[in-house]
Amino acid sequence: MLLRSYTREFVRPECRPEAQSVHLVAHLDEDIGEVIPYLNAVLGGFQFIKDPPSVSFRLHGKLIAIHARKICVNALRDQSEGDKIVEWLKQEINATWERRGEIEPSYESAPRPRVIDILRLLPRTNCGKCGLPTCMVFAAQAGEGGRRAGDCPALSGEGAEKLDKYLGAFRFD
Ligand code: SF4
Repeated sequence: MLLRSYTREFVRPECRPEAQSVHLVAHLDEDIGEVIPYLNAVLGGFQFIKDPPSVSFRLHGKLIAIHARKICVNALRDQSEGDKIVEWLKQEINATWERRGEIEPSYESAPRPRVIDILRLLPRTNCGKCGLPTCMVFAAQAGEGGRRAGDCPALSGEGAEKLDKYLGAFRFD
């Protein structure tokens, strides 16, 4: 077993202390740096950094960053949600480490959608019907996996299909 134990620290976003969501930092008692390229291969990280090693990916709208000595998870509903995610990550880390002989490690970041390309596929009227102030904000959120074509009421059938097809080429979870 590579990762045996950790201590949890829950923090509120510094800039918005009134925010309802919490962030979790799990401080790891073991150094898991060696497993990170294997985790990147298994979980499909959107960002991989070789030195010092880290991998980031998204899960149900949360950003998860795994470093050699800590795991950070943002935008949690509550502490129990954070506990479940970190326990699941611990299992994934240890299972991946056990199977590392069968896995080709990956040192690449997954391709990401370009905000400018998403913007081109939107009506660009800034009508606000989606609840966001501009199409640029919508495009930025869609590029992070937080919006789909169906969230833009001003998009026509064919236009929605094109945006769905474009976003469908990327992995967000
Ligand atoms: S509803 Fe669509 S067109 Fe209107 S602001 Fe939102 S993204 Fe732009």
